[in-house]
Amino acid sequence: MAHVTLPREILPTDGRFGCGPSKVRPEQVQALAGPGAVLLGTSHRQAPIKSLVGQVRMGLSDLLRLPDGYEIILGNGGSTAFWDAASFGLIEKRAQNLVFGEFGGKFAAAAGAPWLEAPDVRKATPGSSVAAEPVEGVDVYAWPHNETSTGVAAAVTRVAGDDGALTVIDATSAAGGINFRVVESDVYYFAPQKNLGSDGGLWFAAVSPAAIERIERIAASGRYIPEFLSLKNAVDNSRLNQTLNTPAVSTLFLLDKQLEWINENGGLGWAAARTAESSGALYDWAEASPVATPFVADPADRSPVVVTIDFDESVDAAAVAASLRSNGIVDTEPYRKLGRNQLRIATFVSIEPDDVRQLIKSIDYTIDAMRG
Ligand SMILES: *Cc1c(COP(=O)(O)O)cnc(C)c1O
Repeated sequence: MAHVTLPREILPTDGRFGCGPSKVRPEQVQALAGPGAVLLGTSHRQAPIKSLVGQVRMGLSDLLRLPDGYEIILGNGGSTAFWDAASFGLIEKRAQNLVFGEFGGKFAAAAGAPWLEAPDVRKATPGSSVAAEPVEGVDVYAWPHNETSTGVAAAVTRVAGDDGALTVIDATSAAGGINFRVVESDVYYFAPQKNLGSDGGLWFAAVSPAAIERIERIAASGRYIPEFLSLKNAVDNSRLNQTLNTPAVSTLFLLDKQLEWINENGGLGWAAARTAESSGALYDWAEASPVATPFVADPADRSPVVVTIDFDESVDAAAVAASLRSNGIVDTEPYRKLGRNQLRIATFVSIEPDDVRQLIKSIDYTIDAMRG
């Protein structure tokens, strides 16, 4: 199908609506080329980079309003590495994994490591969520705060399971865009290439005293743990503002700028209001549209940061996404394995609510023009 050329006055100022990697604000990139430039290509074992890591840990502590005893730890390999690290060094015997889509499913797979008991996997039908249920013998309860593949968000609420059971939240696409109380979790982990507007490759986690105790106990238990995936190693290195091996300095720098921006503007409350405004505009539009519907049926499950919109058979969503792309509006395709006639749009904090309103006009214009 021929692409539709959009009039300039309805184009967003920035056309990046992807769910990860996602929009990096130009101010961050300018800062990297300016004051950040002297840090690039310098040793991560020297004071300037260690103090950058320290500043990032501080910025995250402020953003997440960490209570005494909680710490920010980090390591290389992104959230995917964290899943394996957790199966080696956080799950003692058995996890309960809530699966609302791809990412929750990947942690469930990692939690199926042969030295653990088979995880208790609770699967939701795509587009909905499922709640945790206390089960004897489960020592980690895990689910995504926001399931990026489907646009389902779930509350962060501590599970009252066995004594010492930990609540472990994948916040990769939620951190910095959805409000919550960190004391409701023991481990709130994420990578910085989504709401936090940086690049990929690192993982971060806010960990409770109980989680640190668990990490230390398993590390001392004699279980085989590869050095790269050792959470004990991450705790020890993070306290010294370093990582086991070389981190991406530019990722740390861009993240630091994003944390400064969110925290100076009012923190998580401000960020959450902004993502709610953007996502609300899309959900309202889809509810009112004769051809579009929010994929997530229950409004309580709808993500404020990843909006999935289904279209009826009169609209070819893949052709719409391709046409938008030819106008510089990129990454509105749905999650590849979901296989739906859908657009998926990130409404992360870096994305201007006005740009989301322009995007809606652009989608309407494209659909009308394709109908001829
Ligand atoms: C993107 C994403 C991941 C994977 O992150 P990587 O840093 O690429 O490993 C994991 N979980 C969720 C919820 C995500 O959105």
